[in-house]
Amino acid sequence: MIEQKVSTVLNLKSISLQDRLLTRFLRYAAITTQSNPAVREVPSTPGQWELARLLMKDMEELGVVDVSIDEHAGVVGRLPARLPKGHAPVPTVGWVTHMDTVDVNMSPDIHPVVIRNYQGGDICQNEEKQIFISVDEHPELLKYIGQDIVVSDGTSVLGADDKAAVSNVVVALEILAEHPEVPHGEIYICFVPDEETGLRGAKSMDFSRFPVDFAYTIDCCEQGELVYQTFNAGNGKLSITGVTAHPMSSKNNTVNPILIAHDFMNLLDRGETPEHTEKTEGYIWVTGIQGNQLNAVLNLNIRDHDREKYLAKKEYLKACTEMMKLRHPKAKLSLELEDDYSNIKDAITPENRKCVDLLFQAMHSLDIEPLDIAMRGGTDGSFISTKGIPTPNYFTGAHNFHSRCEFMPMGAVENSCRTTLKLIELITCFTERNRDRDSGL
Ligand SMILES: [Zn+2]
Repeated sequence: MIEQKVSTVLNLKSISLQDRLLTRFLRYAAITTQSNPAVREVPSTPGQWELARLLMKDMEELGVVDVSIDEHAGVVGRLPARLPKGHAPVPTVGWVTHMDTVDVNMSPDIHPVVIRNYQGGDICQNEEKQIFISVDEHPELLKYIGQDIVVSDGTSVLGADDKAAVSNVVVALEILAEHPEVPHGEIYICFVPDEETGLRGAKSMDFSRFPVDFAYTIDCCEQGELVYQTFNAGNGKLSITGVTAHPMSSKNNTVNPILIAHDFMNLLDRGETPEHTEKTEGYIWVTGIQGNQLNAVLNLNIRDHDREKYLAKKEYLKACTEMMKLRHPKAKLSLELEDDYSNIKDAITPENRKCVDLLFQAMHSLDIEPLDIAMRGGTDGSFISTKGIPTPNYFTGAHNFHSRCEFMPMGAVENSCRTTLKLIELITCFTERNRDRDSGL
């Protein structure tokens, strides 16, 4: 006899998510978790510990087990599978979201303002200080007429990046806890600190605590955006030591490291800079130069979607360094190169491609148009994917990250959470269909 098919799925249309998402968001936004790029420790700020501990408590209340926190405030928990007896195995999936908010020289404390039923026009963030988000500068607001929109009070970012995502995952857990009839596979949840300071939270994680087949991050960007193409990224630091002497006796003696730095920069392709490239074109970006009579240091960012081209750029920088050594034999030059993160796409194989396919499928079935973006940057997933866990990203639904004009239209945020729930459903059904197909049914 064919065993009973898994047919009990959530009727997503009947579930109201917006109030739940807003309640969770306000709970998490009330904790100041701005990270600090000047602090080397992870987490870089104590507020992240506070949020981590609150999330541990919330997870445990919602049926998550084995909840643990590491010395960097990275939190991991496991929601045990809930499948009918005899069900074929279902892939283990994880979600990763970050707890910190970005430091862009504004108040670390966030005071959200909820605009009910937005009717168009400028949004007043702060009556007293007369701070507005203007439609002229942000015409994208008009897409959300009729929705509730959450903004900051204009003195800070909103921190929907990434607390909209943190709330999304917790609300999904809430729904699953309230609907024991809904089957699902094993799910891991991970909250990381310090994403905004260079993915340092994800980099400090021990991923043996997160034994999943694939994972998703939820971060950034408007409804529909999904990212599985990111840069390969690395940094270069060129250190130059010259020779100093008094100008009266400088001839054939002094070697000026600042001029060597200039010679080096002149070897770089002026067409391959951030200001001359777009889409999947790579670049080398000189991000810093410090120099005096004796020493100079150049800082470089190396970026390319194409792995071969990325590696070629690093080789080119090495060759330029050798060239400078030949041209300036009395100078000392050293180039340090460091990989930062990789293109998620390179971690996607025919076997694990389902993590991307299911994401498209989830959006299509919810009538959300997927916006497939080749991101000129990286996500936590760009690092996690280098650990053998393919980790695409999808939208939070919010806009204008890293700005006081960040805003969160609740309809779009709801659709992000629906995507999470739909993915859980599709992952459970995915194996079911395959099993039927494999057994010739
Ligand atoms: Zn983010």
